[in-house]
Amino acid sequence: MIADNIKNVTQRIARSCEKSGRSLSDVKLICVTKEARINEIEEALCFGIKDIGENRVQDALIKYRTIENKATWHLIGHLQTNKVKDALKIFSLIHSVDTVRLAEEIQKCAKKINKVQDILVQVNTSGEESKFGIRPDEAGAFFKEVSLYPNISILGLMTIAPEVDDPERARPWFQKLRELRNELNEVRCAKYDVRMLSMGMSNDFEVAIEEGSSMVRIGRAIFKND
Ligand SMILES: *Cc1c(COP(=O)(O)O)cnc(C)c1O
Repeated sequence: MIADNIKNVTQRIARSCEKSGRSLSDVKLICVTKEARINEIEEALCFGIKDIGENRVQDALIKYRTIENKATWHLIGHLQTNKVKDALKIFSLIHSVDTVRLAEEIQKCAKKINKVQDILVQVNTSGEESKFGIRPDEAGAFFKEVSLYPNISILGLMTIAPEVDDPERARPWFQKLRELRNELNEVRCAKYDVRMLSMGMSNDFEVAIEEGSSMVRIGRAIFKND
């Protein structure tokens, strides 16, 4: 079942790349394992999954005892400052940095263990109050500040589109993230080079790829049982 689902998702990713003239190697599939059991995660790894996404640090630490470095770990959920120290132990990429205060804590903890932590900045493109993320108009100031932190490397932006029935309706939020990325890169003398766009989930990843996504975060389409 999981094998079939992975095959299906992979084919749909390939088709979207083809449709939008993008290279398959530019889009990474992150398998979201937050609702999966250990044996299901192991099965997914057997069928070619290399990157897994979790949204709680505590849950991830427990799974890490079994999975260890057989996968690359992505933190996709909200991160509290008191969990930063633990998060830095296992996550290669933190997708959800959304305050300077949190970035400061990451800088402090990363320095202690001599790590340069890769991060993405979460942007609340839709402005929904229920969502985390900086406002698009705060991005310039955020980058100016955080790009000076020596133990943090900002690789790009992340967003979560509102839940909609028709994935087409998520397109404007993905476009907005891409445009924001392009604007940030146009700033003269900027010390950063923002490339990655983490956007697209089970319901809307094809549209996200058409709009330039470099990482899709997919859970239900892989672990659902039908
Ligand atoms: C759960 C989650 C996903 C995966 O969502 P699915 O609809 O299961 O594909 C992606 N991103 C974030 C931030 C999530 O919390």
